[in-house]
Amino acid sequence: MSEQRLAGKVAIVTGSSRGIGLAIAQRFADEGAAVTINYVSKEPEAAAAARAIEAAGVGALTVQADVSRSGDVQRLVRATMERFGRIDILVNNAGVMVTKGVLETTEDDWDRTIDINLKGAYLCSKEVAPIMLAQQSGTIINISSNSGLYHPSAMRFTEYVTSKAGMNGLTKAMALALGPHIRVNAICPGWIRTDMMEDIDPEVHERILAETALGRWGTPADVAASAAFLASTDADFITGELLIVAGGRGMH
Ligand code: NAP
Repeated sequence: MSEQRLAGKVAIVTGSSRGIGLAIAQRFADEGAAVTINYVSKEPEAAAAARAIEAAGVGALTVQADVSRSGDVQRLVRATMERFGRIDILVNNAGVMVTKGVLETTEDDWDRTIDINLKGAYLCSKEVAPIMLAQQSGTIINISSNSGLYHPSAMRFTEYVTSKAGMNGLTKAMALALGPHIRVNAICPGWIRTDMMEDIDPEVHERILAETALGRWGTPADVAASAAFLASTDADFITGELLIVAGGRGMH
């Protein structure tokens, strides 16, 4: 059994039916937190995640909600409060990436990516912040990306990079605005093996490995371990930071 650093806490993890979000939800549950699993379309995956978490002995709730729609976000937060009565941790993880160059992307690609990745994090944070302020405690973790800082292979995905750079700014702005009771940090993962990476060219795969000091892809569990740290009291004096979890790729 993992350390129980999050015992008694309640977390919302957006986009936790699969990939990194699923690993974060599972890790939080292993450390004792009740978790709201959010998804947009994959209901069976979300239900399976909730069953696994409940089997581990903590509460789990699934809520379908598109984080880019304010009405859906209000429903997500309301359902969590009705079920668990408080919210201690918000992880803004839901995200999409369009793998086209800047001259091939459409206005719709741009709007969808910015709306889900950046506006979604803003909407969820804005909805949860008054609850955390009333509790005088809470923490928000934005799952950004190393590409929001700089790394060459990802720079071609213009709207994705822009959304994550925006998320890094949002992290710092919110940390200042919501302190002293709410901590806000971001994790900037490097390349992590999930469904999102399925479309990446094999030649790019090879280049990524060659550029990574630790010589391997990251796993969702690598990111989840950092999220559990940032959510715990071990990170009590850390806010407004961007934690790079990239195996030494694109060091800053
Ligand atoms: P993934 O495997 O494609 O999973 C995406 C998750 O987001 C799914 O749970 C999906 O729900 C959900 N989602 C998508 N659009 C949504 C919306 N509008 N509202 C609510 N949920 C939505 O992606 P991943 O690789 O785990 O990525 C998770 C986060 O990490 C993203 O923000 C991504 O940008 C970031 N990241 C990933 C990598 C990487 O290498 N994989 C690197 C850096 C950063 P459904 O299952 O219902 O579709």
